[in-house]
Amino acid sequence: MGRLVMKFGGTSVANIERIQNVARHVKREVDAGHDVAVVVSAMAGKTNELVAWCRDASPMHDAREYDAVVASGEQVTSGLLAIALQALGIQARSWQGWQLPIKTSDAHASARILDIDGGEIVKRFADRNEVAVIAGFQGINPGTGRITTLGRGGSDTSAVAIAAAIKADRCDIYTDVDGVYTTDPRVVPRARRLDRIAFEDMLELASQGAKVLQVRSVELGMVHNMPIFVRSSFDKPEDIDPHASQPPGTLICGEEEIMESHVVTGIAFSKDEAQISVRHIEDKPGVAAAIFGPLAAANINVDMIVQNVSEDGKTTDLTFTVPASDFDRALETITDARDRIGYKRLDSATDVAKVSVIGSGMRSHAGVAAQAFRALSEKSINIRAITTSEIKFSVLIDAAYTELAVRTLHSLYELDKG
Ligand code: ADP
Ligand code: ASP
Ligand code: MG
Repeated sequence: MGRLVMKFGGTSVANIERIQNVARHVKREVDAGHDVAVVVSAMAGKTNELVAWCRDASPMHDAREYDAVVASGEQVTSGLLAIALQALGIQARSWQGWQLPIKTSDAHASARILDIDGGEIVKRFADRNEVAVIAGFQGINPGTGRITTLGRGGSDTSAVAIAAAIKADRCDIYTDVDGVYTTDPRVVPRARRLDRIAFEDMLELASQGAKVLQVRSVELGMVHNMPIFVRSSFDKPEDIDPHASQPPGTLICGEEEIMESHVVTGIAFSKDEAQISVRHIEDKPGVAAAIFGPLAAANINVDMIVQNVSEDGKTTDLTFTVPASDFDRALETITDARDRIGYKRLDSATDVAKVSVIGSGMRSHAGVAAQAFRALSEKSINIRAITTSEIKFSVLIDAAYTELAVRTLHSLYELDKG
């Protein structure tokens, strides 16, 4: 007998029929003798609708009220799943973030989990074999007593944090794909499912745009050494053997548990990027600080940075990227700081995308990136900027070429071959 967290994403709870399907997945594990805590997302599309309603009510709205509104999607699905479980004869109770409680920081719309009290649900596992159905994505700030949310995709993080808090044996993430693939299977149908992936590689994949897991959930998995298993909720519940050693899916685990290792693990991409070039700045100490200081003060995350060494020792250009959602604010911030920076012109582009190649095997292999640059040039894809780190490199390209670039790199590194 073990203890499991089972998390179901938006498409898995998109309507009543699917919620009933989820209930059968849960019943299978309960019948196998496990203690089960379930974490649910809002129905597919619901959170987008709620976010849009806030924007319609007022473009500049109070983040505390935004959280009060958007947290409601998960309130509905947690109650509905508890009802569906009860209808199957399973003892079940729903829990909102504030009821457990799941304590978070007060950073509304992107709060971080501080502490979870799993005592009551663990007690109920023992006392009455009760399944806990927990609303994902939401928590409460203990200082203000207000509802908070964890950022988009945050139910993954709720699930892993709860798994750690109740000392679960595993955290199963049920979604609309049957695992983590070498790249987004919607873009590259030949993408291959990985049986296992190391926390580190998954962390990079998620941070560089593979939205199958929220970045923070992978971080938590790594910190608590909590195995995360990504699998499909569309497999028929009755066809799955709860005792099988590994059903179809991807296990995210420590590097030491991975036998075969490829140089490149996967490819991620993000179209949520914007590029700003600051032209003709003086090539002297303090200029970069004059640009990035105000951006940091405005809480804008700068990602890629490229600066040329000037030919004449006098002026140069500096290019950087920011999330598309911060683009307007970033432009405004740089324009406001014009006198201090002393530039001649600003150029910008929002139709850009970042494609990243990830693999912890790169640590011990040279020339991996060089191969990519050649392959992209053969497809006439121009690279606007490049960044590298120990286990990944990224290129910034025109957004129109994203799919072509991802497919080209996917075959270059033979990721479709297994
Ligand atoms: P959920 O609603 O269950 O949380 P998400 O839509 O957040 O599901 O995440 C699942 C989606 O992530 C998949 O449908 C897939 O298109 C996308 N995705 C992106 N990159 C990958 C990848 N490398 N492997 C699997 N899925 C990926
Ligand atoms: N419902 C939230 C969202 O759409 C949280 C989640 O699904 O993980 O972002
Ligand atoms: Mg998700």
